[in-house]
Amino acid sequence: MVSYWEQKSFLYHRHLIICGAGFTGLSAAVYYKREHPASSVLVLEKDAICGGASTQNAGFACFGSVSELLADLTHSDEKKVFDLVEKRYRGLLNLRSLLGDDAIGYEPLHGFELFRQGDQLYEHCLDQMGYLNDKLESITGERVYKPADEKISEFGFDNVVHLIENTAEGQVDTGKMYKSLLKLARATGVEILNGISVTGFEEGGHVKVFTDRGSITADKFLIANNGFASTILEGSRTTPARAQALVTAPIEGLKVKGSFHILEGFYYFRNIDDRILLGGGRHLDFEAETTTDRQLNMKIQDDLDRVLREIILPGQQYEVAQRWTGIMGMGNEKQVIAEQLSGRVFCAIRLSGMGLALSTLLGKEIVEMMH
Ligand SMILES: Cc1cc2nc3c(=O)[nH]c(=O)nc-3n(C[C@H](O)[C@H](O)[C@H](O)COP(=O)(O)OP(=O)(O)OC[C@H]3O[C@@H](n4cnc5c(N)ncnc54)[C@H](O)[C@@H]3O)c2cc1C
Repeated sequence: MVSYWEQKSFLYHRHLIICGAGFTGLSAAVYYKREHPASSVLVLEKDAICGGASTQNAGFACFGSVSELLADLTHSDEKKVFDLVEKRYRGLLNLRSLLGDDAIGYEPLHGFELFRQGDQLYEHCLDQMGYLNDKLESITGERVYKPADEKISEFGFDNVVHLIENTAEGQVDTGKMYKSLLKLARATGVEILNGISVTGFEEGGHVKVFTDRGSITADKFLIANNGFASTILEGSRTTPARAQALVTAPIEGLKVKGSFHILEGFYYFRNIDDRILLGGGRHLDFEAETTTDRQLNMKIQDDLDRVLREIILPGQQYEVAQRWTGIMGMGNEKQVIAEQLSGRVFCAIRLSGMGLALSTLLGKEIVEMMH
């Protein structure tokens, strides 16, 4: 039920309505407003903060570890793989220039891929490192990967025998980044309504966007709800992919500094505020993790505890302070879907596991398609 006042002051016609106030939706809103200052842009967000992945992620400013890129090359062609790496890399530069390093808490602490005793993957990675460096040099201007075994003891790891460093990787403070983007969107004149769920849409002389608080019309409609796309878009080619994460309480004398990847990126951890933030393990229960339900999966959380205990913080005292999940959007390919679906409807979805890197540039590109 909608009051007269709500209808008149909130649910009136806009130039652009965006479904989803994640990094992608907010970035698109900012770029659209910049390009059309007189336009009205409304972002509808079902949750109080962000209910997908933009406030749940690990804050890696990354574009691919060696084993992850090699795995991608086994199921996708070379051009697609490196085009996506380039998008991530350019996306990170775009993010940093859009919001500024201070505003996102950017730290150029480098990335590290970690290999354990008997890990066959290391020989393969070492063997292919020159090839990947050639490819990456044409994108980043640097030979980014290098062996870094001498740092294993510096970080205090156990059961780790090799490290490969990525000198162009960094990390951000995700909460700061989201808040800065929200602030920029509001300062640019974007309206954001939280707690309203889009339930569907219909296209005619304009787009009618149906919500759980009534319908609103717009000239254009952008679907930017990533892992939830299939709830309003049939045949979206995007499935939800839940990811589990945890953070420890502060640890005195923590030695770990940087962004770390294990096993083709299936586990990842970093330092933040003298704590360890660890996520991953989806490969242990893909089926259960194909959901928009935000519940913890204790089978995976227990495995994250094991990784913490056996590999990251061996013999150290620590407590797990918080556990959470986030919902990503994946599909049978890692490439994002940025498309005009019809005259007035667009989508920018399926950011897979590296949307922090891709989202602001994706927001810019989808707005360019709206001309
Ligand atoms: C645990 C975890 C760790 C990650 N780590 C990293 C990392 O280190 N680096 C990296 O690059 N990426 C990482 N990611 C991925 C990254 O966070 C996402 O790719 C990115 O946030 C996607 O942004 P988005 O705006 O497209 O989608 P989202 O952030 O999911 O935003 C979509 C929004 O749409 C809203 N919504 C959904 N349906 C509706 C509806 N019907 N009506 C209204 N609103 C709706 C949702 O509530 C959500 O707020 C991680 C993800 C997770 C879960």
